[in-house]
Parts: sequence; C-alpha cells; structure tokens
Amino acid sequence: MGTLLLAAMVLLVPHRIEQVMAAKRDPQVPQQSSVSQAALPPQEGSAAQQISSSQNIALQEETVPEPEDVQSCWELILVNDLNPLPEDFVVALVPAGGGEQVDYRIQQPLEQMMAGAQAQGIELMVCSGYRNVAYQQTLYERKAAAYQSQGLALEEAQEEAKRWVARPGCSEHHTGLAVDIVTPAYQVLDSGFAGTSAAQWMAEHCAEYGFILRYPQGKEEVTGVCWEPWHFRYVGTEAAGQMSRDGLCLEEFLQK
Ligand SMILES: [Zn+2]
Repeated sequence: MGTLLLAAMVLLVPHRIEQVMAAKRDPQVPQQSSVSQAALPPQEGSAAQQISSSQNIALQEETVPEPEDVQSCWELILVNDLNPLPEDFVVALVPAGGGEQVDYRIQQPLEQMMAGAQAQGIELMVCSGYRNVAYQQTLYERKAAAYQSQGLALEEAQEEAKRWVARPGCSEHHTGLAVDIVTPAYQVLDSGFAGTSAAQWMAEHCAEYGFILRYPQGKEEVTGVCWEPWHFRYVGTEAAGQMSRDGLCLEEFLQK
C-alpha cells in the first residue's frame, strides 16, 4: 500500500518531489525552512482566495526514490511574461537581510557577493527578494492604476505597467532567485542607480558570484522589460560568465 501510494505520488507530482528531494539532499538546507508554493496568476477578483490557498509545507522527509540529475538546471528557470511560473513551483526560503527572503541555494553566493563588495568599500543592500503572487498582483495593479490616472485606457495602462512591473505569476521574484540590490546612498529604483559605484561594482563582479543583470539596457525588446540596473538574478557562475562574455540576456542564452 505504501509503495503504491508512493508510486502515485511520484507520478502525480514529480516536479514537486524533485524540488523537495533536491532540498533534502543538500546538507545546507535549513532545518526550519519552509517551502512556499507560489501559484499561477489568479483569476480576476480572486486575489484574496489566492492568499488563503497558498501553502507553506514543511520539507518532507518521506521515502521518495532519489532521482538522478534532478534540479540540475534549477538556476536557469525562465520566468517572464510569456513563461509564467509553473503551477507546481515550490521554493525553500531563507532570510536575505532587510526582512527579505531568497531561495536557500543562493543565500551563500549572495552573501559572498555582498562581502566581496564590502571588502572593496562598496555596500550593497537587498531591497527586494522573494515575492508571492498576491503581492505581485498588488504591485502590478498599483502601477496600472497610476498609468490609468494619467489618462491611459485600462488595456494600455496594463501594457505599459508590465514593462515595469511583471504581471502576477510572471515575476522572477516568485522564484526566490532574483534580488533588487541598491546601496545606502542611493535607494531609488531608477536609472540613476546605474551611476553609483555599487552598480558599477556589480556590473564588473556579479557574474563571478553567479549573478547577472537580468534586464540590461539595449535588451528591452528581448526581455520585454525596461532597463533595471538594480535587478539581479542568480543563474550560476558558469552561465553568468558565458552570458557576460557573450553579452547575452537570459532569453538569448537559453535559445542558444
Ligand atoms: Zn526586481
């Protein structure tokens, strides 16, 4: 019976099991970590439902066979307007400072990057990490409403808004692999941040720690997102190095 149930679980929720197993195998996984289940964009008017139905489940220590090579490319997940977060996506979160949280697997590279910057007199601050879908919905609706108040029709306002704030379910922040980074002297998320020594340090060094500037200047047509000199995404050192050398954004890198 137990075996049958197990087999059924493996068939029904392979992706989730992979996530959990990957977490289980990694000795760095925190004991008190929780797994948050993010969800696809809720239907109109169901934001409240979405909040109540989102789950926090403990990492399971159940007997699931250990698949080979699972999650080998977890760090290359593509989430954008055309590629919403998978419905069964789960993330194990840990604190990232400033009340923010990130996927536990990027905690160490993130800390090392911040320490590396600090050693050279640059202070980096994470001002936004993991976001759930409900919160993204709030941000997106706020942005669209701002454009509407400037006279745009609803549809136009939403089109414009999504160039700045991803639609709920389509934000990289849902993955726990993206961070918005600023510096104490400049905490505004605008193009002026690019002129800071912190942004310049990041441009030069983030790939060494496995991070990329996710929405570069000049790639707006490919990413569908405006230039965001503060938004960094973990992709691993190998991919980050290659993307940096070849001048590719994530969409281009994954198409190669
Ligand atoms: Zn961001």
